[in-house]
Amino acid sequence: MSYPRLVSNLDSIRHNVREISKMCHGFGIELVGVVKVARGEPLLAQIYLENGVDIIGDSRIQNIKRMRQNGIKGPFMLLRIPMISEIEDVVENVDIVLVSELEVARRIGKMAASHGKRQKIIYMVDVGDLREGVWFTKAVDEIVESSKIKGIDLYGIGTNLGCYGGVIPDLDNMNLLAEIGQKIRERGVEFKVISGGNTAALYMVENKTIPQSINEYRLGESLILGTDTTNNISFKFLKQDTFTLETEIIELKTKPSVPYGKIGRDAMGRIPVFEDLGNRLKAIIAIGEQDIDPAGLIPLDKGIKVLHASSDHTVLDVSDFDGRLKLGDILKFRLTYSALLRAMTSEYVEKVW
Ligand SMILES: *Cc1c(COP(=O)(O)O)cnc(C)c1O
Repeated sequence: MSYPRLVSNLDSIRHNVREISKMCHGFGIELVGVVKVARGEPLLAQIYLENGVDIIGDSRIQNIKRMRQNGIKGPFMLLRIPMISEIEDVVENVDIVLVSELEVARRIGKMAASHGKRQKIIYMVDVGDLREGVWFTKAVDEIVESSKIKGIDLYGIGTNLGCYGGVIPDLDNMNLLAEIGQKIRERGVEFKVISGGNTAALYMVENKTIPQSINEYRLGESLILGTDTTNNISFKFLKQDTFTLETEIIELKTKPSVPYGKIGRDAMGRIPVFEDLGNRLKAIIAIGEQDIDPAGLIPLDKGIKVLHASSDHTVLDVSDFDGRLKLGDILKFRLTYSALLRAMTSEYVEKVW
């Protein structure tokens, strides 16, 4: 067996997908299952589709192409607004694409028309988080304009919150999006969805406050981890034991808790801070910043604390661990979204599905 390994618990993932799709469908909400954190793993997409997800979402065209090549039928949504240089790939491989620029919509329309088809788009509105989208005060005109482009089929409008500015989805910004949708419809433009939310907005479905006209959610973190980082929630009706990271101890020694010598910057350019707790038993595990976000490692054993990491080494304080550790022992962790993202992306971490 090789370490580090990332071991999935498919039963818990299935549980999350079923519970969330049941809840969303109960509200007439179409569910886009986002697989980007797992680099578009085809097995994951298959599980999503078999357990209630309506559309597979990913931010990278490479992942969508790989899923297609592995027999996943889709439909597929490209979540990251496309580069002009990838528009041909988008038209050939993507069913629905998020867009936030008229120029891009025009180029997509032209490419789609030359392929003898119409490309479905969701036009993104920025209701405050400052990532993608037309600023809400200008949204109605721009989106009406996009709907007139030859080769374009306006599938819906959408917004993304909580990811960049950390703005929390609430009744104010969801109603703002719903009103923009209403005004566009009053101008005689029809479309299917108002794509209101990612995981940060799931709590509004759970507590039944989401406005009725919001009828699509694009969910990643909640399906795969059962958590919502923006609102700092672990959902009670979901499972959080979906992934376990297994790492191996390569050094085990008692050392001071404060470095000896003059302090400059660490391997990542940070100035590390240390608390003097005297001598402590430390374990080094063979994983580092290249493979995980050390702040996102959650030890499964009591009495283990993640101290600090450089690119390939992570140092733990194991003094309070109840039991005896030895070199070669395997220590297990849960991961936050950011740690999972890096572990999935690192080729040095073996994936066990
Ligand atoms: C990543 C992403 C999502 C999913 O976000 P989660 O917080 O993981 O639910 C939804 N929409 C867009 C545009 C995204 O990029």
